[in-house]
Amino acid sequence: MSKEIVILGGGYGGLLAALSVRQYMDASEANVTIINKTPTHQIITELHRLAAGNISEQAAALPLEKLLKGKDINLKVATIESFSVNDKKISLEDGSELFYDALVVALGSVTNYFGIPGLQEHSMVLKSAEDANKIREHVEARIRDYAATNNEADAHIVIGGGGLTGVELVGESGIEVNRGRASVNNYLQSVSHKDVFVVGDSAVYFKPGDERPQPPTAQIAWQMGETVGYNLYAYLEDKSFEEFEPVNSGTLASLGRKDAVAFIGANQTPLKGLPASVMKEASNVRYLSHIKGLFALAY
Ligand SMILES: Cc1cc2nc3c(=O)[nH]c(=O)nc-3n(C[C@H](O)[C@H](O)[C@H](O)COP(=O)(O)OP(=O)(O)OC[C@H]3O[C@@H](n4cnc5c(N)ncnc54)[C@H](O)[C@@H]3O)c2cc1C
Repeated sequence: MSKEIVILGGGYGGLLAALSVRQYMDASEANVTIINKTPTHQIITELHRLAAGNISEQAAALPLEKLLKGKDINLKVATIESFSVNDKKISLEDGSELFYDALVVALGSVTNYFGIPGLQEHSMVLKSAEDANKIREHVEARIRDYAATNNEADAHIVIGGGGLTGVELVGESGIEVNRGRASVNNYLQSVSHKDVFVVGDSAVYFKPGDERPQPPTAQIAWQMGETVGYNLYAYLEDKSFEEFEPVNSGTLASLGRKDAVAFIGANQTPLKGLPASVMKEASNVRYLSHIKGLFALAY
């Protein structure tokens, strides 16, 4: 009988887990459902460019329906209110419930304000295309005000570097957590619930021998999603599991339209300026090509 695989979150980790499991299990073996609160897959690594008005929204928020077309993956656009790993049950905000044989938690993370007074109340987060649009509109409005009043306060923008503070819903789900994120073994399986896999920012994963967990990045979420795609099959079909082996392909930070800094590859080759900026663009194109989302750049 066909098994029920439910994936909570259609970000980097969730989307890659869904696309990958379909390489090992067809629709007669498993029903795959992604639940995501927006109908789009957010390219978070490009949101700063949307906030700056340098790209269109279509390049940073890709319709999940289009990405999943022909893949036999169900999409449910809904907000998850809670999930219980003891009852194998997911409750949605619209009152409906779903049950699973195997679950993937890929809900991303919640912003940490590090207790800095006023930061949460007076700041805007950058986690979605909607947030990016709000930031751009706000900055444009302040600049218009400044042009009219010459009041320096209108031209004063503070950028607060936040962090990650665990994961929404995971704390109350019954799953074992460490630092607010789900504890997983080398197969990215919850240490407390074998039918639950966790990917991306929702998981706290220590590479054997490391004292610090893997960083919460899109490249790690992508790799985790692919490992879990196979391990769902291994779990449901009683095959041997694959260990997660993270690969750090580098660090890229954009400093403007044609400027960036980067450390590339295993030997961390430093780059700056236009070459680093081109690498940042190439890394986005590589991801979009992998998920067959290059249509986003046609806008
Ligand atoms: C501004 C910014 C810039 C970044 N730049 C980079 C970068 O350049 N390179 C890099 O590697 N990493 C970068 N990161 C980190 C990277 O974006 C994250 O590590 C990555 O998104 C984690 O993937 P994920 O699948 O765990 O979560 P996400 O990609 O955040 O996906 C989580 C999904 O779950 C959905 N969801 C959450 N709660 C619910 C709910 N209750 N109901 C339904 N759906 C829900 C969300 O809508 C979302 O689609 C950046 C992060 C930020 C905030």
